[in-house]
Amino acid sequence: MSTSFQNIRGTFDILPDAYTEGETRIASSAEWQAVESVIDDVMRRYNYEEIRTPIFEPTELVARGVGQNTDIVQKEMFAFERSDTQYVLRPEITAPVMRAYLQHHLDQRGGVQKLFYVGPCFRAEKPQKGRYRQFHQFGVEVIGADDARADAETIASMMAIYDAFGIDDTRLRINTLGMPAARSAYVSDLVDYLEPYADELSDTSRRRLETNPLRILDTKLDHEQDLLRDAPILTDYVRDEDRAHYEEVKGLLDELDVAYDEDPHLVRGLDYYTRTAFELESPSLGAQSALAGGGRYDLLAQEIGSDEPVPAIGYAAGMERLFLALDTDRLPEPDRPDVFLAALGDDAARWVFRTTQTLRREGLHVAFDMKGRSLKAQMREANRQDATYTLIIGGNELEAEAATVKHMESGEQTEVPFAELTDYLTDRATA
Ligand code: AMP
Repeated sequence: MSTSFQNIRGTFDILPDAYTEGETRIASSAEWQAVESVIDDVMRRYNYEEIRTPIFEPTELVARGVGQNTDIVQKEMFAFERSDTQYVLRPEITAPVMRAYLQHHLDQRGGVQKLFYVGPCFRAEKPQKGRYRQFHQFGVEVIGADDARADAETIASMMAIYDAFGIDDTRLRINTLGMPAARSAYVSDLVDYLEPYADELSDTSRRRLETNPLRILDTKLDHEQDLLRDAPILTDYVRDEDRAHYEEVKGLLDELDVAYDEDPHLVRGLDYYTRTAFELESPSLGAQSALAGGGRYDLLAQEIGSDEPVPAIGYAAGMERLFLALDTDRLPEPDRPDVFLAALGDDAARWVFRTTQTLRREGLHVAFDMKGRSLKAQMREANRQDATYTLIIGGNELEAEAATVKHMESGEQTEVPFAELTDYLTDRATA
């Protein structure tokens, strides 16, 4: 069988079995479910509530929320127009969550809103290992709290997820960005410092010198990193109260036993970011080493139309990167059929079909063959599906009103009267 159609490059199908595409292992749907349930569990323990927003949003929201000067908005949006309205497939979920918070007045629920999400995002990037055009993010947004405990708890909850998967070859970097005024004073000194070296900068960095100088600090190029060694440091420009907040966050992380490295070069290019910024990376992932990133964004709400500032902090993490860092052997085994009903002959097939319903109503996971195959082929199928028991029903069993029940692992066979079947199987399936 075949088709001339293929999934779009940079996207992938999640199938019942894991498979490899190029050098990447694509996890099975059962593995995705297992990972999502661990994430759900950590989110529950940290008292986050789930929020789900649409996968497309007004382009203007994303342009403002992500920032006009970013690569995402300039080059990577899947945008389309319909009846004079501009839409975009969401490239991230922070701006949509803040939009939903403001639109539905979630502040009126009282207290701090601690929200989490899991879902697909879309960016027209060049596909490569760990970088896709449709990928999945999970993350949290804590809205309405400026307390340093919100920063520390957000970071701790992120680390708890990687801990839950036994991923410990990670590095957490943190920094404080202060407020925009400090950053603009800093940027102007940074530009003064870098301009004499403009000829030595890469094309990208030279462009950034004009558009978004802070991003130059992200450079991965050795000679640029050397150049930056004597550059001014953002932390020196930050107001005392922002530095005090940073000290408090670090102290709280120490109290929670969360290890971190301070990195004065860790920045965000956008004005609405304030104070705390952090990133988690796993050196073992190679080029796309970022597992997650986040920070405080006290000025985003106003950027997207709020008449009041709304303090907030959050992070976003890549699911595919989590899978790359993960040992899938540690995930729980996928659910398999409790029982496979094998039939010999038409009467038996009819009995089997009816009985699937009876057993399923009792909560059992029940499989059977619907291709009318030989008993041998049905037994092979029961094996492939790794059923715990197989019921064999033929003319003799119908007459005796008792099924032959085979325990697949031991090969043991028992006669069980039809009237006792449900109890027999439910007792053992839940044991
Ligand atoms: P960002 O919103 O760019 O900070 O991304 C947050 C996280 O999402 C990153 O740390 C990655 O783990 C993941 N991520 C971002 N872009 C992609 C992509 N194109 N493919 C896969 N994962 C991505």
